[in-house]
Amino acid sequence: MSTPTVLFKPEHCPRTDCHYHRYPLGWRWQRWGFYSRDAAPRRIQRFRCGHCLHTFSRQTFDPTYWLKRPGFLREGFQRLVACSCFRQIARGLGCSHTTLMRQCSRLARHALLYLRQHAPQGPLAEHVVLDGFEGYAYSQYHPCYLNLVVGSVSHYVHAFTESELRRKGSMTAAQRRRRARIEHRVGRPDPKAIEKASEAALRIAVPEPQHVVVHSDDHHAYPRALNRMVGWSFTHHVTASKQARTAHNPLFPVNRLDLLTRHSSANHKRETIAFSKSRQGVIDRAAILMLWLNFVKPFSERRGGGTPAMRLGLRQRPETVRSLLRERLFPSLVALPAPWQDYYWRAVPTRELARGRPHTLKLAT
Ligand SMILES: [Zn+2]
Repeated sequence: MSTPTVLFKPEHCPRTDCHYHRYPLGWRWQRWGFYSRDAAPRRIQRFRCGHCLHTFSRQTFDPTYWLKRPGFLREGFQRLVACSCFRQIARGLGCSHTTLMRQCSRLARHALLYLRQHAPQGPLAEHVVLDGFEGYAYSQYHPCYLNLVVGSVSHYVHAFTESELRRKGSMTAAQRRRRARIEHRVGRPDPKAIEKASEAALRIAVPEPQHVVVHSDDHHAYPRALNRMVGWSFTHHVTASKQARTAHNPLFPVNRLDLLTRHSSANHKRETIAFSKSRQGVIDRAAILMLWLNFVKPFSERRGGGTPAMRLGLRQRPETVRSLLRERLFPSLVALPAPWQDYYWRAVPTRELARGRPHTLKLAT
C-alpha cells in the first residue's frame, strides 16, 4: 500500500534507458498532476522526468504497481509463509489462483532483490552450515534440492540455490521402469548438480575469497564443491547425518531450517497435493520464505531472541511484511549473482513442461 503521495519524492528516474536511472545526482523532475483509481489511496501523484520527459507515478516506486487490488500482495505474502496452498489463499482473498501465482512470482522477485541488496557486507563473521533440503517439483520422479548456506550463530540464510536430482531410494520394479521411461523421454539431471549448486550457493554467501569454517554432513558432493572454489580456504567439519538432530548438533541451524520449511510451506508438506508443479515454483516460494525467516520471524516464538538479521547486526528490530514491501526494488540497480538472475527472470526449466513462462516485461520488473 502506498504511503501518503504528497510527501513522496522520487530518488531516480524509473526508466532504465534514462541517464538518471543509475546516476541520480543532479536529477530534476516535476510533479505532473494526479490520476485516480478504485483502490485506496485513490489519488496518485504523477511526476515527469526533466531529462527523458517520461512520466511516472508514486505507484511506479511501489511493489504494488499496476495491481488493481494492491492489498493482495501483503496478504498473499503472509499466507504463503503460513503453510497455505494457492487455491486456499485465493479462496480467502476472493481472487483466482492464477492471480495469486502471478503475485507469488512478483513477491519472489522482490525477495531475491531484497536479500541481495540487504545482504551482510564484508568478510563472513561466523561459521556456516552447508546442507540441502530435498523436495520435488512436477512429480516424485523429479526430486529437487535446495542447497542452503546458513549462519551457525545467527541462523541467517546467507544463500540458497536449487538443483534437480534423479529419483533414488527404494522403488518397486514398476517404479524403476517408469523412471527409465521418463528419463528416456526427458533426459537425466546432471549427476554433479549438487556439487555445482553448492559451489554457487557458497559463492553467493561468501563472494570474496577468505577463510571459511564450514559444517556439513557426509555427502560426497561437499568436499568437491569446496575444492572448486579456487582462492578460498576452508576448514571443513563433517557431522554424520545419523547423529541425533538436537540443538547441540553442529548442523542444528539447517535442521531447524528444514523443519521450518516443512512447517511453513504448503508445497513441502508430507503427502501433499500442494506440491510445486515446476522448479521455478519451488524457487519462488523458497525466496519468499528465506526473506521472511531472515528479517521478520523471531528466532523463538516464545522467547524472542531477535531475527537472524538482528543477530547478525543488520537490523535493530524485526521487519514487518509491510516494511519489506515499502519500496519497489529495480533489477537494474541490484546486481544479482548468476543463478539468482535465472531465478529472477524465470529461466529455470522443468523437464516435463514444454515451456515455462519467462518474465519478459520491460517496465514491470
Ligand atoms: Zn528519465
